[in-house]
Amino acid sequence: MTNELQRYYSELREKNRRLLEKRIAECEQKNPRFRSLANEPGLVFKQLAAGKLTPAAAKSRIGAIGAERRNLLISMGLPGNYLDAIYTCPRCQDTGEVGEPRRLCACALKKQQEQLLSGSRINDRETFANFNEAIYPNDEQKKQGLAMKRFCERYVASLPSPEKPNLLIVGQSGLGKSFFGNAIARAAIEKGIPTLKTTAYQCIQTILDGIETRADAITPYLSSDFLILDDLGTEAMVPNVTVETVFRILNERTAANLPTVLITNLDREGLFERYGERVASRMIDGALTAIVLLRGDNLRTRVR
Ligand SMILES: [Zn+2]
Repeated sequence: MTNELQRYYSELREKNRRLLEKRIAECEQKNPRFRSLANEPGLVFKQLAAGKLTPAAAKSRIGAIGAERRNLLISMGLPGNYLDAIYTCPRCQDTGEVGEPRRLCACALKKQQEQLLSGSRINDRETFANFNEAIYPNDEQKKQGLAMKRFCERYVASLPSPEKPNLLIVGQSGLGKSFFGNAIARAAIEKGIPTLKTTAYQCIQTILDGIETRADAITPYLSSDFLILDDLGTEAMVPNVTVETVFRILNERTAANLPTVLITNLDREGLFERYGERVASRMIDGALTAIVLLRGDNLRTRVR
């Protein structure tokens, strides 16, 4: 479970604990009998431990205390379980985990998805379901778009361990590259894969800010289960930072077998020119990377 998720559940339990305390105080104020009822189980257990009560008698006494409390609550117009422990998710009792071995509860998967989507650059418009081949100007591009969609869907289906971990999407501006990047991210998150989608520009900016504040800015890019780096080639080219950062991301993710999608306007020559042989040859390494080229007219200028 991520730290963010753990924090969510500990805050949730704290919130429900405070709510229960408030209910107890409210009931005790209305009827002091609640306070003695709250103390009685402890006395029963003491007597049981001291051998002054049989287990059967203790059990019946505990049952009677519960019944009296329930009846008192109902007579006050409240639900009989008003003073029971409060759980937002009774299934996991707000721990986020169920079963043996422990796995994430459905509520935690849903929460994780929400957390991944908020603050990410992933939108809910650009999805495979919303793909519309009618935006393509001719049959050839329509065919290409559909093939691209099928390809990307297969890639997502093979996550978290695609045969070739990396995907490089290359094409001029306005061919829908970012649409596919978003659709891949969205579908991956729906599969429950923690996904980081960002632009290369934002990534390098974050690294530069991190240098200034001495924060550890690169780790999320290295260790995210799935990374989508859009607009590669538009980031600032800072000596000793940009190329080194891209290299480190590619290198460490490959070593850890973590899938990565790169999206760029740059063709092969452009990549070699900008990032140099060491980095560019890694980006187009056919053993690790599936490469798709999008060709054709700019959709944005056509649609407008
Ligand atoms: Zn739950």
